[in-house]
Amino acid sequence: MYELLIRNATLIDPAQNIHARKDVAFTRKHVAAVKDTIAPSEAHEVIDGTGKLLTPGWIDLHVHVYEGVSHLGIPADPYCIARGVTTAVDAGSAGADTFAGLRKFIIELSQTRLFALLNISSQGMLAMEVGELDDIRWADTQKALKVIEANRDVILGVKVRLSRGAIVSEASGFRPLLLARDVAEAAQLPMMVHPQDAWTEHTDDIVNLLRPRDVMTHCFNDSVIGGILNPQGRVHESVLAAVARGVSFDVGHGKGSFMWRVAETALAQGFSPQTISSDLHYYNYKGPVYDLATTVSKFLHLGVSLDDAIAKVTSLPARFLVRDDLGTLRVGACGDAVLLDLQRGEFTFHDARDEVRVGAQKLEPVVVVKDGKVYVGERGDKKTSRAHT
Ligand SMILES: [Zn+2]
Repeated sequence: MYELLIRNATLIDPAQNIHARKDVAFTRKHVAAVKDTIAPSEAHEVIDGTGKLLTPGWIDLHVHVYEGVSHLGIPADPYCIARGVTTAVDAGSAGADTFAGLRKFIIELSQTRLFALLNISSQGMLAMEVGELDDIRWADTQKALKVIEANRDVILGVKVRLSRGAIVSEASGFRPLLLARDVAEAAQLPMMVHPQDAWTEHTDDIVNLLRPRDVMTHCFNDSVIGGILNPQGRVHESVLAAVARGVSFDVGHGKGSFMWRVAETALAQGFSPQTISSDLHYYNYKGPVYDLATTVSKFLHLGVSLDDAIAKVTSLPARFLVRDDLGTLRVGACGDAVLLDLQRGEFTFHDARDEVRVGAQKLEPVVVVKDGKVYVGERGDKKTSRAHT
């Protein structure tokens, strides 16, 4: 007897190359069966997915959920798992001095399966007014390594932000990237780089330092320094070379990092991000980001196929996690799934500069399953109009 069965939905599981009507059953936290037909009598709980899409639980590689400590923090569960993201990565809200709290009070108490990237600044991202690398003494590589060693089960890599002024002082310059890379190298983990407006003159300086599995997030930001487009509007050669050697480019929509014009220009040249992430945080969860489903819907509007878009929030981020039991619904994998409505109509999508496109499709999560159980917890307030933050 299975514990849970989802019947009659169209299963999209890019890791298994499946796009077909299937029934999926769960038992003891895992996927127990994927078949053309499973009788309802074989399960204790049955959900009818007729007319819906079923995908593995989504993975968001870039969120900020250190609520109550980081100025960016929002509660994870109403905005991650309640919206189909069963696994999320907090991208540098905590550093070596603040990580213990993220682990104890957020990671261990959330229903969303959470991992973290450790900020190279040991304070993490505490305040808007004082940048985490205003003073380079915050970048303590030995401390970072020690915290990584003690928390390898949840720390997946190192995060560094390079923006001049608000985050990195002139005196710190370009050094944070080199220090983050030293730590990542010593820990044999990847790093995620937030590159825009860095203290350098060229995107090449940043991208050429990225190693296979490193991630450049905010890839559709329109900054001249750290953006993927050169002044002629072409994707930098260094970016294409980085993709070829296994560097990932990640969306990280955020409040200031997804511009329709940049995404449209890059996609028209054949450049597509490896992963779609939200960079969901306090200043964008009421718009323009809302959630990962809205972000993915924007890529459907950009012409990314449904299967590719789902891969960019399931199988591809699972590779970054080095977890072959996440981001897929193969038998034996973690029992994480999302049942989605692919709504059709006219949907207004804002980018980070308030430019609007009207899309014809929108993905809406309707049932979320984690570890083989339907999530019934709190769902965050989802406003349809754009908030002023
Ligand atoms: Zn972020």
